[in-house]
Amino acid sequence: MLIKSPVDEVKKRENSFRIISSILKQNGRNALYDLTGLAGGFKLSQEDLDLLETYAGPAIFESELQNLGKEHLGGEKILAFNRTTSGILATILALVSSGDEVIHYLPKFPSHPSIPRSTALVGASYREFDNLDEFEIKDNTSLVIITGSTMDHDIIKEDEFLKIIEISGSKNIPVFVDDASGARLRTVLYNQPKAMDMGADLVITSTDKLMDGPRAGLMAGKGEIVDLIKSKAHQFGLEAQSATIVGIIKAIESFNGERMIDAFRKKHLVYEAIKKGISSIKETPTGVMLSADDLINELKQKGVETEFSPADVACVFSALLLRNYHIVTIPAVGMPGASPTIRIDLAAEDAERVDKEYIVKAFIETFSHLNEIVNYKEACELVLYEYDD
Ligand SMILES: *Cc1c(COP(=O)(O)O)cnc(C)c1O
Repeated sequence: MLIKSPVDEVKKRENSFRIISSILKQNGRNALYDLTGLAGGFKLSQEDLDLLETYAGPAIFESELQNLGKEHLGGEKILAFNRTTSGILATILALVSSGDEVIHYLPKFPSHPSIPRSTALVGASYREFDNLDEFEIKDNTSLVIITGSTMDHDIIKEDEFLKIIEISGSKNIPVFVDDASGARLRTVLYNQPKAMDMGADLVITSTDKLMDGPRAGLMAGKGEIVDLIKSKAHQFGLEAQSATIVGIIKAIESFNGERMIDAFRKKHLVYEAIKKGISSIKETPTGVMLSADDLINELKQKGVETEFSPADVACVFSALLLRNYHIVTIPAVGMPGASPTIRIDLAAEDAERVDKEYIVKAFIETFSHLNEIVNYKEACELVLYEYDD
């Protein structure tokens, strides 16, 4: 094993930040290609910044947040969180008690870890399904969660979504939709309605996914339920602060789906070109991805066996992409527990600055580089942990 604990994950992340910092210092921001599709942007003007210093600001921002949030997500009331993870935690704290059960339907495993972790924290049991035939509500079920689009951007089918709403509604169990990326992928690319318009009670989205906003969670829902969650959020310090709220407002104001639609059209060419060298590459709605398991299988096909885990190998691949091609993907920079899938999002703002041929070349050459070092523990550790410029 190369990455043995969350502490190692943190060290790996720090190493990636050293690489990024050195690229930025030596070559400037244009030499870095953040293709994670996670923007983390704060598009604030001087006027916004000035308002942040006064008491008037939060009052203005709050009403703008309500209006724009409802425009983006529907619903009666809006609440902003420090992260989507915080919103999920606040919801489970507010609606689920010890001994209850949370059930979660998602188009494909794995689920985002914040859902089972928050459920465990309140002492409730948890079941998850990716097959509608197995989905059943029990007497102690107090919350149904639907994931609209997974971390790897698998999208729920509209009829399955509606079926779960119907089953849950018939038993009066609230439905909470984790639409972190789905609020845009489902609606813009697959013409599905907003979660609230399909009958959900609550929805949350991440304002840095396929949107140029800060990493934060934006929730919409029925008024009474949102009030319950709001009180929990304040008790535990989970709510977004003013600067983040302004960042969210700017992101919604400037959002249009054009980059996503453009990426949806272009990704196939990138996919076909990479496939010539890496046969297990897959398409996502707005780009391509290589899962950790597919990467291991791909190595096997080339006759290369490795003692390392799929996640280890994916993180080495991601670190090589960053070091040698200045391309940022999630396994190199993600928080502990993040998905080890190497995903390129062509809807990312930086994708406009990079040739598609460059991405193809980076993938193919990084794969042969990986072939060379994957059986040398020290070489891999060097790539993961010991960058020194
Ligand atoms: C990204 C994501 C989250 C969590 O977002 P954070 O910003 O990491 O809190 C939750 N659920 C899904 C499906 C996601 O894709």
